[in-house]
Amino acid sequence: MRLRNVPGSREDIANSEFVIQEAEKHKGEISSFFPVKQPLFIEIGMGKGQFITTLAKLHPEINYIGIEKYSSVLVRAIEKQTELVLPNLKFIRMDAENINEVFGENEVDGIYLNFSDPWPKDRHAKRRLTSRQFFVRYEKLLNPEGKIQFKTDNSNLFDFSLEEVEATNFKATEVSYDLHNSEWNEGNIMTEYEERFSAKGNPIKRVVFIRR
Ligand code: SAM
Repeated sequence: MRLRNVPGSREDIANSEFVIQEAEKHKGEISSFFPVKQPLFIEIGMGKGQFITTLAKLHPEINYIGIEKYSSVLVRAIEKQTELVLPNLKFIRMDAENINEVFGENEVDGIYLNFSDPWPKDRHAKRRLTSRQFFVRYEKLLNPEGKIQFKTDNSNLFDFSLEEVEATNFKATEVSYDLHNSEWNEGNIMTEYEERFSAKGNPIKRVVFIRR
């Protein structure tokens, strides 16, 4: 993602009621930031937040947290939420590498990974959000029944993810190489990147990872 420095974005985030501040100090009790204790789903690398904001609007019976590393993108999601004020949507600014410092065991009921950065160089493979190192992190925080849904247009990253999961305690289900023309497209919510890439004619791939 091309990043523009948005002046004042760090201050906006530090002062936002929609952002969980110093989340690592509340490990295992993140649900207490929501008015209702109900299932918790997270999106890692949410970008400007179109996907998770739409989900939160459609599903008031689920709590959602959007995780994003960069302030300049996160502020765009905060802008949307400032208009909508959805009680079941919060954000955390952090690098997902530290996700186990924030979420306790089994605290999360579902994970969305949408158009994650591909990190094409081999030496950066462990930074990919579907690397075996990340699956180990997800295993700790995800409820045993929980699912990880991954979408991308990037064939190399998709193939890597399907191979990588074989080395973990998860397995791939509902694999689609062309989501928009598949049985799983009903109810699909488009992300910003998905709209952009499918408009160019790129097929969208999708897989759901579950515990073995
Ligand atoms: N999910 C959005 C979509 O589909 O439109 C944005 C996709 S964009 C290519 C990837 C996003 O993930 C960027 O906003 C990037 O900053 C964020 N990201 C990448 N690695 C991350 C990490 N380790 N922790 C948190 N966010 C990350």
